Amino acid sequence: MKIVIAGGGIGGMTLALSLLDAGIADVEVFESSSSIKELGVGINVLPHATRELTELGLLDDLYATAIPTGELAYYSKHGQRIWSEPRGLAAGYNWPQFSIHRGELLGLLHRALEKRLGAPRIHTGHHLSSFGEQGDRVWAEFTDRHTGASHGRVEADLLVGCDGVHSVVRRALYPNEGPPKWNGVTMWRGVTVGTPFLSGRTMIMVGYFARRVVIYPISRRLEEQGKALINWVAEHKTAEDQPMPVQDWEHRTEPEEALEPFRSYVFDFMDVPALIRGADAVYRYPMVDRDPLPTWDFGRITLLGDAAHPMYPVGSNGASQAVIDARVLARELVLQLSVGAAVAAYDAARRPATAAVVLANRKVGPEQCMEIVEERAPDGFTDLSAIIGQDELEAISRSYKQTAGFDPAVLNNRASLSVRR
Ligand SMILES: Cc1cc2nc3c(=O)[nH]c(=O)nc-3n(C[C@H](O)[C@H](O)[C@H](O)COP(=O)(O)OP(=O)(O)OC[C@H]3O[C@@H](n4cnc5c(N)ncnc54)[C@H](O)[C@@H]3O)c2cc1C
Repeated sequence: MKIVIAGGGIGGMTLALSLLDAGIADVEVFESSSSIKELGVGINVLPHATRELTELGLLDDLYATAIPTGELAYYSKHGQRIWSEPRGLAAGYNWPQFSIHRGELLGLLHRALEKRLGAPRIHTGHHLSSFGEQGDRVWAEFTDRHTGASHGRVEADLLVGCDGVHSVVRRALYPNEGPPKWNGVTMWRGVTVGTPFLSGRTMIMVGYFARRVVIYPISRRLEEQGKALINWVAEHKTAEDQPMPVQDWEHRTEPEEALEPFRSYVFDFMDVPALIRGADAVYRYPMVDRDPLPTWDFGRITLLGDAAHPMYPVGSNGASQAVIDARVLARELVLQLSVGAAVAAYDAARRPATAAVVLANRKVGPEQCMEIVEERAPDGFTDLSAIIGQDELEAISRSYKQTAGFDPAVLNNRASLSVRR
């Protein structure tokens, strides 16, 4: 069985590793960029995804690079703590939660894949330009995006579009869908070298959806030096009728632009304007997603990760859901009797599950508690329990974990997704 993967991001790399682990060896990855660039800033690997990466033998690599997040805390725009909860092992999961540089996560997946699959089967500079079916095979054509030169045609039993939010595969399957949907929120992202804050392994969110910062440390190496590489995302909702900022993960801008809405976010536990000013580079990106699709089941063609279900970065789930997709697809390709049956089973398992996360994220997911406090106590509070009860706070946190598939009891007790042909 030959599988062609279009897109060498986190989803594509994890799929290739999962297929190899499941005993499916005839795999090729085609990545549009001219090299596997370790780009991006911070990203989270939640315990349900860590479980899968552990089963792929990558736990030590994650520990060597990432910060095992121990706590998540939400604050109002006045810096008043609303809710905090233990995370990862501290929360009773059998697997840690990691905060990591996206580029380093991609790098460790890539290195593992080079060892297990071999570099010649990871084709960079190969942009999927067209594909189709012929008999019981699928074909895919690739070009060099810079020169326009053709790399020719590859045939396979299955083509998986892991080609991100601007997926060529998705656009061909759903030609009338149009561009991703912007919700009016601009995100500025960066990393700043600083000193450890709070527990040293705490992730914080401050403000409310329209004016929010998310901050967490991401580097084990700096932690060992007594410092912190602090990832931050500053999000500000502007008028929805303004033009959408350019959708390019590498688009750089000035720190002053990012910190303007956050000048008052100076607290004893974090000076947000200073953090933003301290970044080497500031990247701007619009917060976008797409509507859930009616099917990903196109027989010998399917979608995975952001190509299948781009979601708002609420609840830190984008990369984790791509990892789970990869593991489930590999598993079904072993368990089912045909590629068609495997794609149907994958679609049935993952599409409704990820659609629920996309929709929950539109309703601000677990961060609802910040919205409630902003709405009920915009000038601050003296007694939090008069604003929002402990039960309500717990219910918000629990409900999102159930929706996104990382309720601790369910995750710890469910069967492994690992299978072997
Ligand atoms: C450069 C970059 C930086 C990012 N930085 C962050 C970040 O800092 N924080 C964050 O939360 N998320 C970031 N993301 C998004 C995040 O990686 C995804 O939301 C998540 O990990 C799901 O991964 P994915 O593999 O589905 O998609 P992606 O990680 O987007 O990977 C898709 C891959 O497909 C390739 N590709 C696209 N079109 C084609 C084609 N036609 N043929 C072949 N290959 C193609 C892309 O070059 C890319 O490598 C970034 C994505 C990219 C591409």
